[in-house]
Amino acid sequence: MILGCHVSFSENGLYGSAKSAHEYLANAFMFYTGAPQNTIRKSLKEEDILNAHEFMKTHQISLEHVICHAPYIINLANKTNLDKWNFSITFLRQEILRCLKMGVKKMVLHPGSALALSRFEALDNIVEALNQVMDGLDFTLLLETMAGKGSECGCTLEEVKYILDSVLEKNKFQVCIDTCHLNDAGYDLNDFDSFLDLFDQLIGISKIGCVHLNDSKNVLASHKDRHENLGFGTISFETLLKICYHEKLKEVPKILETPFVGYSINDKKRIYPPYRFEIEMIRKRQFDPDLYIKIREYYKNA
Ligand code: FE
Ligand code: FE
Ligand code: ZN
Repeated sequence: MILGCHVSFSENGLYGSAKSAHEYLANAFMFYTGAPQNTIRKSLKEEDILNAHEFMKTHQISLEHVICHAPYIINLANKTNLDKWNFSITFLRQEILRCLKMGVKKMVLHPGSALALSRFEALDNIVEALNQVMDGLDFTLLLETMAGKGSECGCTLEEVKYILDSVLEKNKFQVCIDTCHLNDAGYDLNDFDSFLDLFDQLIGISKIGCVHLNDSKNVLASHKDRHENLGFGTISFETLLKICYHEKLKEVPKILETPFVGYSINDKKRIYPPYRFEIEMIRKRQFDPDLYIKIREYYKNA
């Protein structure tokens, strides 16, 4: 199974990310090339890239299974402020070029927020922007299914389909299904086979290029988007496990974006990554109600 998680990129760039992924027992990972909420980017070091590739080769992490996540500040859906919209296009293109320098060929993107625009105007803006962004690039963008918080586009399969059907270079686009977002958008994952059938009818299963594997803090159709640790939310461990091991998604990387776990130790608040233990639960196919205790024990002396 191709199973990984979100990792930080700050220390030693891609090399640091690859080492974190391995520490979490992952054979795939996702990263932001810098802080997702700003545009400050460190220049890439050739040495870090070579070290990362070498490390990945010896630790069973294929570059095919490394995925970047586009920063949140990009919004392709609204061009009321033309400068802002053009900036989103330019910056997204820059981020893609950074990925290509590292040998990374895939990036997950939130389609965008309509804000005061109609859905149709917003979707057409996204399509127009994506055509500009991808022009001449050998790269795959994965549109993420969204929870429908605020005016988010891409919270129905029909909206995602509209974008995929309208872009010029269709072969450069895939979909990332986020389980928390699907639940919050109103898709009942307890009947996952029906969901896959629907997806297949509308878009085609072969277009699923990534799964974001998260539980949700909120109920079906809440339009909230708050991720929860696997088995501690409303989706349930059994359902998430079924998605993970689904025969039709065998080749698709599953990436965890579950929340860090917080503790107060000696009055100091610390937070720890849950991934190593959640990945273990999936591989063992066994929910561990003591997950939080285990995480604390493991990182206590770190
Ligand atoms: Fe996302
Ligand atoms: Fe996600
Ligand atoms: Zn989310």
